[in-house]
Amino acid sequence: MLRLHSPLRGWCARLDETPDEVFAQRLLGDGVAIDPTGDTLYAPCDGEIVSVATSRHAVALRAENGAEILLHVGIDTVALGGQGFQALVQAGERVKRGQPLLKFDLDVLARGAKSLITPILITNGDQFSVAEACVGMSVEVGDALLNVVSAASQADSASGAAGQEETLSFAVPLEHGIHARPAALIANFAKAQNHEITVSSHGRQANARSAVSLMSLGVKHGDEVALVASGAGARAVLEQLKALVLGIHEAPHAPDAVQAAAPSVSSAPKGGAAHASDRSDTVDATAVTNRLRGVIASRGLAVGRAVTLKDAEIAVVEAGRGIAHESAEFERARDEVRVRLNQLAQHSQGAAKEVITAHLEFIDDWELVACARRAISRGKSAAFAWRRAVRDSADTLRALGDPRMSERVDDLIDLESQVLLALSGEAPVTIPSLPERSILVAEDLKPSQLVSLDATKLAGICLAAGGPTSHVAILAAAMGVPALVALGPAVNAIADGAWLVLDAEQGTLSISPDQIALAAAEQTLAQRRQRQQSERAAAHVDCRTADGQRIEVFANLASIAEAQVAVTHGAEGCGLLRTEFLFLDRDSPPSEDEQLHQYQSIAGALDGRPLVVRTLDIGGDKPIPYLPLPAEENPALGLRGVRTSLWRPDLLRVQLRAILRVQPTDQCRVLLPMIADPAEIRAVRRMLDEVRRELSLSTQVQVGAMIETPSSAVIAARIVREVDFLSIGTNDLTQYTLAMDRGHAELAHRIDGLHPAVLHLISMTVNAADEHDKLVAVCGGLASEPAAVAILIGLGVRELSVVPTLVPQLKSLIRTLTLESCQSLAQRALAMDTAEAVRALANEAMTPAALA
Ligand code: PEP
Ligand code: MG
Repeated sequence: MLRLHSPLRGWCARLDETPDEVFAQRLLGDGVAIDPTGDTLYAPCDGEIVSVATSRHAVALRAENGAEILLHVGIDTVALGGQGFQALVQAGERVKRGQPLLKFDLDVLARGAKSLITPILITNGDQFSVAEACVGMSVEVGDALLNVVSAASQADSASGAAGQEETLSFAVPLEHGIHARPAALIANFAKAQNHEITVSSHGRQANARSAVSLMSLGVKHGDEVALVASGAGARAVLEQLKALVLGIHEAPHAPDAVQAAAPSVSSAPKGGAAHASDRSDTVDATAVTNRLRGVIASRGLAVGRAVTLKDAEIAVVEAGRGIAHESAEFERARDEVRVRLNQLAQHSQGAAKEVITAHLEFIDDWELVACARRAISRGKSAAFAWRRAVRDSADTLRALGDPRMSERVDDLIDLESQVLLALSGEAPVTIPSLPERSILVAEDLKPSQLVSLDATKLAGICLAAGGPTSHVAILAAAMGVPALVALGPAVNAIADGAWLVLDAEQGTLSISPDQIALAAAEQTLAQRRQRQQSERAAAHVDCRTADGQRIEVFANLASIAEAQVAVTHGAEGCGLLRTEFLFLDRDSPPSEDEQLHQYQSIAGALDGRPLVVRTLDIGGDKPIPYLPLPAEENPALGLRGVRTSLWRPDLLRVQLRAILRVQPTDQCRVLLPMIADPAEIRAVRRMLDEVRRELSLSTQVQVGAMIETPSSAVIAARIVREVDFLSIGTNDLTQYTLAMDRGHAELAHRIDGLHPAVLHLISMTVNAADEHDKLVAVCGGLASEPAAVAILIGLGVRELSVVPTLVPQLKSLIRTLTLESCQSLAQRALAMDTAEAVRALANEAMTPAALA
């Protein structure tokens, strides 16, 4: 089956509505007709141009499956003799779907032709027929228009033969199943194909072009899905889609995030002076008169005045004011919201950007938009049609009972009101200017409302409804704003301007507390701010232990935004740029120039500080859609890191060229992941020398090896001879040493880099490097754990590369340590039997007294 995509923007009608008997009676072939509102005709599919009329008003195209398509702009336009038409292609040329074919002057045509309506026909109807045409609705260029089915396949299916339908079934390995991000990736892939792809699971079916429909399938980890498509090349398309799904990488920052979060929970110091104020971070409970209990969505403490937010109900009328009017309004409102979201996306990052990206995905969701257009074509108002489409999808997602999907429901409902507001001509509900120290009080909050707030004035958020894993919760945490949700309806009675103490450490909201309670909360806040301020103030000063040992604190990066955060938090450079994360969400490898642009921008953001660029670490738990690897029984032990690069030297060469082109030429260092022996380093070095010659570079580039396999640690003395520095990746070193998958949920609590075996390998590595006077850094998650820092320093590590925002805290911790106490702690740790024992020792030692 061949899918044709709309070659024009406009209103799609049945051929019968064409004011010309030849077309209306399908004498030239079956198809549809579009009344255009755009002035360019685009290719509806890939193919070859068979002919362009001498009067340039019509183009005939042969698709790859042999279907011949006539695109005839306007009726009786031949009489214009080419006036107002410009041909952009010629006969014999191969074209891609979406490529412009003709340009025309709508004014000239409107004046000179009988009608602008443009028939799109299949002219070899003996071999092909038209199925599932989208008529009676407005269409955008590229929208699905109709399906062309070959007579042979119809005959096959009529006779019960298998025909050309292909099915590919597999179990979904994604940890969270097909949730929003995988759904969006699948939909984007499917939209770019000529084949109609159906995804089925649990007895339900979804059009692969619609992220919302895909999510509605409720596919969870391990569930079986079947991909179905028909027509020539269908198998290959399904294979590609399968590879894409299998290659989706979940939670790229998980290791860092888990380990960075750990100190505040599992390794909390027992009375350590450096963190003494943590214990007084709660509010005195006795003095509070009016207190509500809620669920913690973003940790912290806030004191401020209530700013209440009440959402206005948007009135929606069911009956439309004419199909053309409502269609135009629908497109206008979506355009308006899309433009605003794109603007917001440019200025946001992290979790806020994710929310906006989800909204952008949904606003053009194939199924949602088609549903709304169908309702409009049945005479409903655009607002009614959109609300119905959104609510139906939201209900289906809600019925799945999956908390991840509830977040998507929030997004859908949020987007529903954005479009309804645009249709009503009202401005989106944003809170005007917030006074200083505002605590926002609302029934619920939409992500779009939160991202439009001035975070500098927002002290906290209390919601009557909401959940701790909602987008608003994630956003609030990313913005550093304490938040409580599910406080119940009593929240709605809070008066504007009332004093509030929001304790999102204990889960309580105190309304109009007395002076004593207020003062206590203020004091706690002041202490906490002071501690963070002094850490931040000292973050830019070189870091030394109390007895003067210099320790460099670098940052691990995966984006330009993180580079900026790292610099403001006092990072001395980037010790690990995970380049694979710069190029995750794409289906083709990044070009040399694209890579150069990214690396150069990060180098610029680091403002001269060293930038350690790790070559693509693809494979294992980091598969990449554009590089499907051969099926492997155990990917963690297969092609990954430098092995993948040497398996695809073309990709490595492009990357090395991009790194070496960064200016100034000595800012970047090259780091090689997953080194197992010196031969791998020599192979990369040979290519580096070639690239340097190609680029006529006289400067040497520093090369480092990651120590993240036990083999490399054991023969570190030989590895180190080949390189300028070593960097220990404790995440993988732990996984391979303990033979425990770093992504294994059951084993998660046991995969601990403080295991004595891992510490012994670190120690061996440092000793080998010391003998050759080479630097050893630790860039794995262990370096971001306060409890582990003293041990690493005691083992001889002199450079840590950590989560960017933790730089100030870690530097201030290091300044309380002495080298001698760290060394003695490290020796005791090496003698322990288990990770638990080392961790207990490390936590105990967090008090300066124990380290003295
Ligand atoms: C590591 O393994 O510790 C490391 C830093 O590399 P990644 O986490 O990217 O595999
Ligand atoms: Mg690693």
